Amino acid sequence: MTETSSLLSAPRTPARQPLIDPFGRAVTYLRISVTDRCDLRCRYCMAEDMTFLPRKDLLSLEELTHVANAFIDRGVTKIRITGGEPLHRRGIVSLMQTIGERIGSGPDQGLEELTLTTNATRLHKFANDLVAAGVRRVNVSLDTLRADRFHHITRRGDLDKVIHGMDAAKAAGLRVKVNTVALRGINDDEVDDLMAWCGERGFDLTFIETMPLGAVDDDRVDHYMSLQEVRDRLARHWTLTESTHQTGGPARYMDCAQTGTRLGFITPLSHNFCEGCNRVRLTCTGTLYLCLGQDDSADLRAVLRSPEGLADPKAALDAALDEAIGRKPEGHDFIIDREHANPAVERHMSTTGG
Ligand code: SAM
Ligand code: SF4
Repeated sequence: MTETSSLLSAPRTPARQPLIDPFGRAVTYLRISVTDRCDLRCRYCMAEDMTFLPRKDLLSLEELTHVANAFIDRGVTKIRITGGEPLHRRGIVSLMQTIGERIGSGPDQGLEELTLTTNATRLHKFANDLVAAGVRRVNVSLDTLRADRFHHITRRGDLDKVIHGMDAAKAAGLRVKVNTVALRGINDDEVDDLMAWCGERGFDLTFIETMPLGAVDDDRVDHYMSLQEVRDRLARHWTLTESTHQTGGPARYMDCAQTGTRLGFITPLSHNFCEGCNRVRLTCTGTLYLCLGQDDSADLRAVLRSPEGLADPKAALDAALDEAIGRKPEGHDFIIDREHANPAVERHMSTTGG
């Protein structure tokens, strides 16, 4: 039995109160960042010379499992593992297996979906293990199909490795969704190529607007591109119709008649999705952020490492979740500061997770 799977054998009380925030929204979706480290340095995400956190600051696999279990016990049905690059966290397979054991409708289960967001550089090694852990879908970040551009955007990446990883995921039976950050002057001439390439492979494709998160060396504002423009460009060549698919997040979807795949647009800078927000985010150091665009948070690592948390992590977390969700803000305040290009929120996406 692994360090984390032994935690599952503890008797669990039947489902308790769901987590409802002050605006009546139920929290059913948790994103967990398992590391801030990454093998790439995407220009919009990280600075070239990032200083990563000391390992002792990260939640252990056992602590991550306690948090995941506490949320599932309170009605979370979907967990996404992210980072940094989650496939670089040591023990990731064991963590995924342990959380994956809670997928199902049994009395000790309740999780409907466990997913992962990855840059795919190591996906070829992990695809089969992920399927065995209960993962059915992965999101892969890919901003270009040109090797030289990929190397430029990521400051070091090898596109062939990523495509190899995606093909391995497909072969293992995983559904793949590609996430592309729309970057003016960098990949805006590739939107049709990406649509065609994903369509041929049966991959859904979602475009993301750059978000002002954390200081990076690049001028993100220069490359900001509205997704309305991406959509208008695509509509010239592809037949797109509004999709009924909803996730409770900032994505809006369309169906593409030619490819039969789904096309998404994530516009976090607009306010129009906050009213349906069902999610919270845990950083790799155990800080629970209640909104991607606000600083309101709760320190779950302090809870877990307190005498009460060490004695009874489940009870301590339960109380902490009630307190935290009672403070979930109504919506975010992202504003692109076009003159100064300052980040609206100081933390990097690699800390909070995508
Ligand atoms: N390393 C993994 C990956 O790249 O898929 C997971 C973590 S990464 C932080 C998650 C997602 O956040 C990626 O799709 C990435 O493109 C996106 N992202 C990072 N920084 C961003 C920013 N400033 N604005 C918009 N999206 C960003
Ligand atoms: Fe790494 Fe993902 Fe950030 Fe790129 S977007 S630097 S792959 S964490």
